[in-house]
Amino acid sequence: MKCKICNKDVQDSGFCYLHLIAYKNIVDKFDVWKKASDIFWSDYLIEVQKNSLTGEWAKEVVKHLIEEGNQNVR
Ligand SMILES: [Zn+2]
Repeated sequence: MKCKICNKDVQDSGFCYLHLIAYKNIVDKFDVWKKASDIFWSDYLIEVQKNSLTGEWAKEVVKHLIEEGNQNVR
């Protein structure tokens, strides 16, 4: 099986090792944001995408998640 984003071998959840780390960071940060502001997952993804501090790997993951249809990860 290949990574949903970059076609490297999958580590877990459909992502390769590096995209999986980025994905987990995004999910972890969402929990923090949600406690602070009750933001929706789809709105959160857009905020992360707009943030200039977001790394390249994370941006690719976010783009994929948005395209996938804003499904909640939980
Ligand atoms: Zn990948």
